[in-house]
Amino acid sequence: MKKPIVFTLDDDPQVLRAVVRDLRNEFGKDFRIMSTTSAKEALASLTDLKNKNEAIALFLCDQRMPEMLGVDFLQQAKEVYPEAKRILLTAYSDTEAAIKAINEVQLDYYLMKPWDPPHERLYPALTDQLDEWQSSHVPDFQGIRIVGYQFSPRSHQIKDFLSGNLIPYQWLDYESSIAGQDLVAINHIEPKDLPAVFFEDGSFLLNPEIQQVGEKTGMNSKASKTMYDVTIIGAGPSGLAAAVYGGSEGLSTAVIEKRAPGGQAGTSSRIENYLGFPNGLSGSDLSRRAFSQATRFGVEFLSPQEVVSISVQDHYKIVQLADGSTLNTKSVIITTGVDYRTLEAIDVERFTGAGVYYGAATTEAHACRNSDVYVVGGGNSAGQAAMYLANFANRVLIVIRRKDLTATMSKYLIDQIAATKNIHILPETEIRQVYGDDRLAAIDVENIATGIKEKVNAAALFIFIGARPVTDWITLDIIKDEKGFIETGRELLKYESFKKSWKLNREPYLLETCSPGIFVAGDVRAGAMNRVASAVGEGAMAIKFVHQYLAEN
Ligand SMILES: Cc1cc2nc3c(=O)[nH]c(=O)nc-3n(C[C@H](O)[C@H](O)[C@H](O)COP(=O)(O)OP(=O)(O)OC[C@H]3O[C@@H](n4cnc5c(N)ncnc54)[C@H](O)[C@@H]3O)c2cc1C
Repeated sequence: MKKPIVFTLDDDPQVLRAVVRDLRNEFGKDFRIMSTTSAKEALASLTDLKNKNEAIALFLCDQRMPEMLGVDFLQQAKEVYPEAKRILLTAYSDTEAAIKAINEVQLDYYLMKPWDPPHERLYPALTDQLDEWQSSHVPDFQGIRIVGYQFSPRSHQIKDFLSGNLIPYQWLDYESSIAGQDLVAINHIEPKDLPAVFFEDGSFLLNPEIQQVGEKTGMNSKASKTMYDVTIIGAGPSGLAAAVYGGSEGLSTAVIEKRAPGGQAGTSSRIENYLGFPNGLSGSDLSRRAFSQATRFGVEFLSPQEVVSISVQDHYKIVQLADGSTLNTKSVIITTGVDYRTLEAIDVERFTGAGVYYGAATTEAHACRNSDVYVVGGGNSAGQAAMYLANFANRVLIVIRRKDLTATMSKYLIDQIAATKNIHILPETEIRQVYGDDRLAAIDVENIATGIKEKVNAAALFIFIGARPVTDWITLDIIKDEKGFIETGRELLKYESFKKSWKLNREPYLLETCSPGIFVAGDVRAGAMNRVASAVGEGAMAIKFVHQYLAEN
């Protein structure tokens, strides 16, 4: 915890030294003493201190200074730090100015020079003021602060990225947060350039890409080695499991993740059926544990970083990254999982990130307080999200095409939903159109059995419909099924193209693609089970095959 600051200002260096010495002696244990002889320099540093989220408890300022009068300095300082105590240091001849200033700048006190002995003439007055400041001061959040509009897609993307990477942040809604408006004003930021992300070092970025935010938070997006034994693409449960096994078995291992470790599971508020956790665990907890486990085994994480293609040169694989750099590796495990299909309703695209969200979007749950929200989909992920949102929203309405949830959701979740008063199911229903100005406000819901359509208010729409494999980026000629999931192992034998291209005198390993040394694990694999445990199991298994492949080459 940073100590609050006592800021002192006097143009006479000798007097300033004496004030600082006395302040340090008495208050140095609890406060940081900052000082300067220049009022202009002091004013310039206040914005920087505010951006760094430093607290100033008290200004102690000389009245007669060549650059400006003490009262004028305090007047301007009050704009940036209105809650700090303001004390003027005056000569006898300036008492009149000081008394006038009590009203003008709401001066809290004035002290007369010289202040010897300080125990009588300095410390008691300052102690009173500092005690009063302490009693009303609420320590500010220390860490990254984002100022933006609640329903801005970029703000949502940044919040989602930081929470997925377990980086704490404070969200300041520009329309309702005074602290957010102050930060924008003192830094002369145009509201149209929001969101602004303020870092602990006092710097800020306007409307940044997540890669820029990742770099500022010290995340690593560059490979350190010229060659890896295995490169894992995607850090969902299967990628993380492969990383832990790869690292622990001595393979030089890199993991590339475009968003945040944890994948789909990372967005789950509670995974109840993962072995060994009888009370369930949150997806972020699982990811955090797995990430630190893998890091402990020396695995290198490149994140945020997106893979855009893989090519093969002799036995080596070259992984091309979105920033134009490449990474060389002897083997690859693709664990890029699945994404939600997009909802086909009029204008849905316009509001994506501004009231329409794909996946759990737990970061937006607080904004749904006291309003009606809709969840589209009947699977477990939709059920978990509905349970979580029910803690915040007035009502959660689950929109499904089927008559009920029995065929698509686990019984334990169906029971929990039935027991939650503010969750309602809209069976045999589809969403036709969405409406709003700068954010979602209403939707058309149609009962497909009766054909009756109704326009209803909706603060947010969370979409969980079907899985689309994340394989569009693979330009290499890899065999996929008709839906785009990657085929592996013996399943490949049924493809004519495989018979022509496979040149080894062994069959592909269980999780190997039609390109030797490129393996697939988890939800992106054709025939996968779409469970955390199976993704983890396949990730671990893939490393076994990597060993066998490396031994051959
Ligand atoms: C809300 C929710 C709740 C769930 N609850 C449960 C549950 O309770 N129990 C259960 O067993 N299962 C549950 N599941 C399913 C489970 O989470 C998935 O089966 C599992 O996450 C699949 O893991 P995966 O590693 O294969 O892929 P994913 O989890 O999809 O991870 C893929 C990762 O790859 C990254 N990626 C994609 N493309 C690239 C690229 N080009 N470059 C770099 N990185 C890339 C993605 O950003 C992502 O992090 C739930 C799913 C959701 C969405």
